[in-house]
Amino acid sequence: MEIIIGKDAGFCYGVQRAVDRAIEEIEKEEICCLGEIVHNQNVIDSLRTKGIKFINNIEEATSNTIIRAHGEPKSVYKKAKEMDIKLIDLTCPSVLKIQNLADEYSKKGYFIIIVGKANHPEVVGIKSRAECNYRVIDNKNDISELLNIINNKNKVLLISQTTHSSKKFDEIAEELKNSINSDVKLEIKKTICPSTEIRQKETEEIAKKVDLMIIIGDKRSSNTNKLYDIACNFCNNVVFVSNETEINLDRFNGIKRVGIMAGASTPKEDILKIKELLLKNNS
Ligand code: SF4
Repeated sequence: MEIIIGKDAGFCYGVQRAVDRAIEEIEKEEICCLGEIVHNQNVIDSLRTKGIKFINNIEEATSNTIIRAHGEPKSVYKKAKEMDIKLIDLTCPSVLKIQNLADEYSKKGYFIIIVGKANHPEVVGIKSRAECNYRVIDNKNDISELLNIINNKNKVLLISQTTHSSKKFDEIAEELKNSINSDVKLEIKKTICPSTEIRQKETEEIAKKVDLMIIIGDKRSSNTNKLYDIACNFCNNVVFVSNETEINLDRFNGIKRVGIMAGASTPKEDILKIKELLLKNNS
């Protein structure tokens, strides 16, 4: 059996940076982390064992507190200041760039269209910088409902959650260009992070040439779900697992070529464990 593993499978630079820094900080002093630092239970459990206290609300903070790679809304920074809690801000630079765009363009009077999932923590943080002048959409079919609003605006900015589907964003941009009134100034900034785009492209390429594709990651992870959707478009035999314990080896009978891709929140060890399991089963 041949196994093809995506070169970019596993932790992205933003998540790796946040996890490394969290480990560094907990060695020095007691720290809290606001929300799960990564959508991966094994990683969370291991950090909890090292002493990191995970909290769901800044009001629960009892010591210096990590802001994870997804970022947080402005209200969190304000509350932390009031509570005299020092924040260790590990917002990914790619997310920070979008937050700054939302802030800058809303101040310039732009109406902001955010492509993404309205309740995703990253989008919640971006929305807070866009003040009240925004809408969140997921795909090009959502544009028709928006036209009444945006055609009454002078200036519109289109941005995206970092992990959204690149293809969906391009479709939205095209639809907007074709349907918006010509006197509305439209600015398009494709803010999908490079790591996400590369991973999505690689998933497509691998899925096209294998008999079975494995997507590894937490079922709640937005970017991993996108990879699963992409793989299903190009391969009719795709399994989505959180780790090696969910692999059903019966599915691999007669399979000659397997592809593996993993989301940005999946540690490399999880990928290697699955590879070893398949090789052992095949020997
Ligand atoms: S997916 Fe991209 S934006 Fe999100 S944390 Fe990773 S590198 Fe940063």
